[in-house]
Amino acid sequence: MRTEVAIIGAGPAGLLLSHLLAGEGIDSVVIETRSREYVEARIRAGILESSTVALLDAAGLGERLHREGLEHRGIYLQWPGERHHLDFLDLAGCGVWVYGQTELTKDLGRARDVAGQQLYYGVTGTAVHDLDTDHPYVTCRTADGIEMRLDAEAIAGCDGALGPSRAAVPGTAKTTWERTYPYRWLGILADVAPSTDQLIYAWHPDGFALHSMRSPAVSRLYLQVEPDADIASWPDDRIWDALATRLGHGQDGWALTPGPIAEKSILPFRSYVMAPMRYGRLFLAGDAAHTVPPTGAKGLNLAVADIAALAPALTAMLRKNSTALADAYSATTLRRVWRYTHFSWWMTTMLHTTGDPFDAQLQLSQLRWVATSTAGATGLAENYAGLPVDS
Ligand SMILES: Cc1cc2nc3c(=O)[nH]c(=O)nc-3n(C[C@H](O)[C@H](O)[C@H](O)COP(=O)(O)OP(=O)(O)OC[C@H]3O[C@@H](n4cnc5c(N)ncnc54)[C@H](O)[C@@H]3O)c2cc1C
Repeated sequence: MRTEVAIIGAGPAGLLLSHLLAGEGIDSVVIETRSREYVEARIRAGILESSTVALLDAAGLGERLHREGLEHRGIYLQWPGERHHLDFLDLAGCGVWVYGQTELTKDLGRARDVAGQQLYYGVTGTAVHDLDTDHPYVTCRTADGIEMRLDAEAIAGCDGALGPSRAAVPGTAKTTWERTYPYRWLGILADVAPSTDQLIYAWHPDGFALHSMRSPAVSRLYLQVEPDADIASWPDDRIWDALATRLGHGQDGWALTPGPIAEKSILPFRSYVMAPMRYGRLFLAGDAAHTVPPTGAKGLNLAVADIAALAPALTAMLRKNSTALADAYSATTLRRVWRYTHFSWWMTTMLHTTGDPFDAQLQLSQLRWVATSTAGATGLAENYAGLPVDS
């Protein structure tokens, strides 16, 4: 089979790229290891920056988001005895949207269906070949057991942290940076109305907690846990008790309402960046090139920003025979990647307890400064609510 762009991975990055390329009349084929049902039900991110929403609007993908998403003007930052509101609209001029990655993935999938996108779910054995030539290709086995060879002008590696694209770049052609953290998150999705109107980020001596949400009827909450934590040792009652303690149930009359837990899992937690985000005709985007801990809510937004740069770069390369944008893609994109890698690390180290009493005092001092100084609060707001997509 022949196409112009072979896209590996039907997560947000891969689906959005196929959508934007189709808008420019560029043909692509998307291959994905998981089933469509699995991809669309996978509980992950849920906070969209204004610039992400603007891009989705411009691509004709924002209708349900505006109808069902929740626009938030800020977040609460708290530690025992104190809760402060940071108003992003006042501080940085824009807010954020709460809209589950599951919903965005469904919207993208439907848009691709309407356009007649060629999408192969359930493939196995994906491999990339001849990346340093003008005629790269991808091989895999379809869900029906047919061996497929996909010849393309370019390959987009949108296959996440564990896909084959990242690994296909030879060690001599890449530099990688990595940071692991001595904790992870236990995340739950609960069928109960959120107990807060905006997200609560809570520092607590027992560990960090976050009260997020996905809709007016569904709450998403997280707890800092040990890196080797076993989900079996966290029965529902223990989770709700820990959340109530760390989020300040009873403080100034605030109450956390528990409810049935629909899903719970332990989340991976690390920082990773690979550069350059291109090797020959293979272009990496999203989690395939970089991973951030979820504390800053940046992974999905970074994936969208990568695609906002990659789609015009591939369009210029394939339609105008101009490689300037493609050649600049990695350097341009990595500026934002490093900004958000720093922001995600900064939020993480400010909010997660380490057991070291000196660290705790530094964290509390920084939290007080961020929450009470306009300069401190504006720095957090600018990064959280989002930089313009081309910065
Ligand atoms: C487990 C998990 C939980 C997360 N939770 C949160 C959260 O709570 N909050 C938050 O802000 N962010 C969260 N994130 C981050 C955020 O969801 C990601 O940054 C975002 O999904 C990146 O989109 P992507 O399209 O680049 O990658 P992905 O969404 O990972 O998509 C990559 C796709 O490639 C497919 N693929 C992999 N290998 C192959 C192959 N060999 N052949 C074909 N296809 C392949 C995968 O199945 C997947 O569908 C989470 C990430 C993970 C991994």
